[in-house]
Amino acid sequence: MRKQIAAANWKMNLTYQQAEKLIDDLLALPHQLNDNQQAIFAVPFPYLQMVANRLAGKQNVFVAAQNCSNKKSGAYTGETSLEILQSIGVNHVVIGHSERREYFNENNQLLAEKVDICLSNNATPIFCCGEPLSVREANEQDAFVAKQLQESLYHLSAEDIQKVVIAYEPIWAIGTGKTATSQQAQDIQAFIRKQIATQYNDAVANNISILYGGSVKASNAKEIFSQADVDGGLVGGASLIAEEFNTIINSLK
Ligand code: PEP
Repeated sequence: MRKQIAAANWKMNLTYQQAEKLIDDLLALPHQLNDNQQAIFAVPFPYLQMVANRLAGKQNVFVAAQNCSNKKSGAYTGETSLEILQSIGVNHVVIGHSERREYFNENNQLLAEKVDICLSNNATPIFCCGEPLSVREANEQDAFVAKQLQESLYHLSAEDIQKVVIAYEPIWAIGTGKTATSQQAQDIQAFIRKQIATQYNDAVANNISILYGGSVKASNAKEIFSQADVDGGLVGGASLIAEEFNTIINSLK
């Protein structure tokens, strides 16, 4: 059965001391995650170990990197390999966030390689997809997202694709305060699931968690997560406020 997931994306925010306070404040708040629910914290690289230590022994809570190299190891100055991440206990990685696609020229082919390196090491890629505003305005979002999935994921076996978490994030809703309506999220996420069912089969499609991302906050999380094909959220801004993100965790189905 697919998991319901609240994933925080701290992006390039917070000092180390602020990060310590945020995770401590959040962990002190009441939340309960059953075995079908998870909370994941995608934090800056220098904070991974600290957050991993804080989460040690807690059930259904994980730390994630916001990126990893497509290379295994070697002379790639400034890059961080999956092996390095796993050596400090990190087994989840956000792959292909729209900010990495836009500012660091990450394309579907490169992201396919990053997904592969995660899966071949039994790590979980949280694969982001989603269209820019111009594509949404032209009502071409389905084809746009289908191409992203096709080029980065459909080379995977039926067994492997089920290990991927997909985050649908319309770029026009990220950090803008403009949220897709819950119906818009449901429509495209149902489309994504149907595409996967066509490419693989219904059982595979029904086993994959598809998160929504784009200005999710405490006040709208429950409504968005209540949609049949929305299995939680990838949350930027609101994940930087302990009470907000805790409410989002408590809004999971
Ligand atoms: C994100 O960073 O993936 C995101 C969805 O950001 P925000 O929640 O701030 O829109």
